[in-house]
Amino acid sequence: MDERLEVKYGLPEKVVFCKRCVMSNQRPASAVEFKHTIDSKKVTLNIGKDGVCDACRHADEKEKIDWKKREDELLLVLDKHRRNDGYYDCIVPGSGGKDSAFQSHVLKYKYGMHPLTVTWPPILYTDYGYRNFRRWVEVGGFDNISFNQNGRIMKLLTRLSIENLFHPFQTFMLGQKVLAPKVSLQYKIPLIFYGENEAEYGNPIADNATSLRDKSYFSMKNLDEMYLGGLSIKEIRERYKIELVDLTAYLPAPFEELEKSNIEVHYLGYYLKWTPQEVYYYAVENTGFEARPFRTQGTYSKYNSIDDKIDDLHYYTTFIKFGIGRATYDAAQEIRNRHLTREEGVALVKRFDGEFPDKYFDEIMDHIGMTRDRFMELCDQFRSPHLWVKEDGEWKLRHAVWHGDK
Ligand SMILES: [Zn+2]
Repeated sequence: MDERLEVKYGLPEKVVFCKRCVMSNQRPASAVEFKHTIDSKKVTLNIGKDGVCDACRHADEKEKIDWKKREDELLLVLDKHRRNDGYYDCIVPGSGGKDSAFQSHVLKYKYGMHPLTVTWPPILYTDYGYRNFRRWVEVGGFDNISFNQNGRIMKLLTRLSIENLFHPFQTFMLGQKVLAPKVSLQYKIPLIFYGENEAEYGNPIADNATSLRDKSYFSMKNLDEMYLGGLSIKEIRERYKIELVDLTAYLPAPFEELEKSNIEVHYLGYYLKWTPQEVYYYAVENTGFEARPFRTQGTYSKYNSIDDKIDDLHYYTTFIKFGIGRATYDAAQEIRNRHLTREEGVALVKRFDGEFPDKYFDEIMDHIGMTRDRFMELCDQFRSPHLWVKEDGEWKLRHAVWHGDK
């Protein structure tokens, strides 16, 4: 085709798939999740001249890592912070999913730390997700602070982020990201452990330990520069007659406060070998974690991100915007961990990617006050012409990872 097709969101015009995994160069870096536009210019997944993506390259490097040495580095961090005076010495944010269960459990029972767990609850808990949360604190044995949000605001912001960014999960992600640093300041616990290093997925953030002030989405310099659901704070407040205090939960801690603090953020995945499947088995054994009792729509897996009903819809929207659905994310990761061959991955993507998540769909629409028709309208509005073509009344991807294998 000679005519140039419109390309939305600053995505690369030419779609390229990694020849090692199944991911394409259309995948934005995770930092884009927090912006007020979907413009992902220059921060999509890099695929090198040899056809291999940065995430796969990172997986290769991981093979060469001296994990004993990394554990020694971890011990230095822990020894510096460990307290035995009856007070918490680190924060582990999470929902009681497999990752946070693993993190908190090894820190407490293997390394003798005293974590306080912190939870930003899902928009709509699944039953088994809630059971996992309860078991995490009860069976695992952790103190936990859960921040229960103003439901009216949560619904409004979720609806706005769908309308403006087609991102049902932004509200959740923002809240989750900013909560731990705020608790850390409040409780004076200057050590936060997240799970996987972001470089794992080829995101351009490679540091194992960072100071919070380097990360714009952890701290707030100027309220006028902050956006939620694609609108400025001022716009939201005026349009919906909302007081600032009702939006504070979604906003990061003030920059000056973080700068004065010595909060350290570490990724446990930098120090310990992190294989999702093994982390899953660990959580089953130690905190009574249960997988979803059925296959997750849009993919073939049962144990990744299962506590929020909206998560399934979130991956459907990434399929619409970037041509990348949940099966692609899952398969790419499992190919890198050598649990799948690329051939198997391609077949799974072909079979499940973009499957419409109808199981919780009506309940979600009801919850946030949006009609099914409106959502479908938005689907078409957010498709980028360089990715999608309508043939006989049906939308088809112009480029799919299985096309090459036809
Ligand atoms: Zn790859």
